[in-house]
Amino acid sequence: MKTKRLQMAATGLALALAAAMPVFAHPSEDDPATAHFLANEAILVTAGETRILFDPLFSVSYGYPLVAPDVRAAIMAGTPPFDGVDAVFVSHVHGDHFDAEAVNAYLAAHPDVILVGPWQARLDMQAADGWDAAFEARIHALPFIASPQDLVLAADGVEDAIRVETVHIPHAGGAGRAGIQNMAHRVTLNGEATVMHMGDATTDSAIYDTHSDHFAARRSQHAFPPYWLIGEWGGDTTRDRLNADHVTGIHLGNAHPAWIAQSDEDFFTQAGEERGIHRHE
Ligand SMILES: [Zn+2]
Ligand SMILES: [Zn+2]
Repeated sequence: MKTKRLQMAATGLALALAAAMPVFAHPSEDDPATAHFLANEAILVTAGETRILFDPLFSVSYGYPLVAPDVRAAIMAGTPPFDGVDAVFVSHVHGDHFDAEAVNAYLAAHPDVILVGPWQARLDMQAADGWDAAFEARIHALPFIASPQDLVLAADGVEDAIRVETVHIPHAGGAGRAGIQNMAHRVTLNGEATVMHMGDATTDSAIYDTHSDHFAARRSQHAFPPYWLIGEWGGDTTRDRLNADHVTGIHLGNAHPAWIAQSDEDFFTQAGEERGIHRHE
């Protein structure tokens, strides 16, 4: 009886503590920050109650896997694990990363979600079906400039839950793609988990030298570069240049380059794969 009573008292204490805790939850050993791979460059990153999506809504394959229809439906409906998404990040407006009409529909269905993306994304959204001028208040349309741009976003009642440091890194493919505003987003969730998503960034190392201060300014626990950076530079140089503890290559097509299978480096190849976002001690 006595043991039972003690247990009940302990349970009561736990409940009281739970009630006193803030409404958000930091990532912990039990619930670490996690990246969930959806397809191509579409990734959900969760850190406690803070949830962000990179390049989630696109409709053109160009030989790359699309997000599975049931996953796309869950994103649009906001069913787990896509409930409570705080912000959507767009790298650039190519069809294998971004569908303006789908993003309009998503913002309409999720009136608390913030959109961060290139200025070109808002232009496309304004021209697409489903545009609503009321979205303006929730869109951070980043100007097409070379210098890094910082944002601080509130989420789940925490004023600085999401810290964004974005820099324009030209699209791979040289001068023919120079008109595309490709943005590399470095995002810190809850001050604890920093991830980097780079869109279709170029392998031209001179660009990264130009922005060495930006990359040095904060270490990422995990960067998700397009696989061709790892192929061109190797894993160690990629980690050094991006200032990242871990890298996982993304944007693999339906047919992988042969070297991928021989590589010791990490890649997202199957929808549903996850990686813990771990800090190096
Ligand atoms: Zn592209
Ligand atoms: Zn692409």
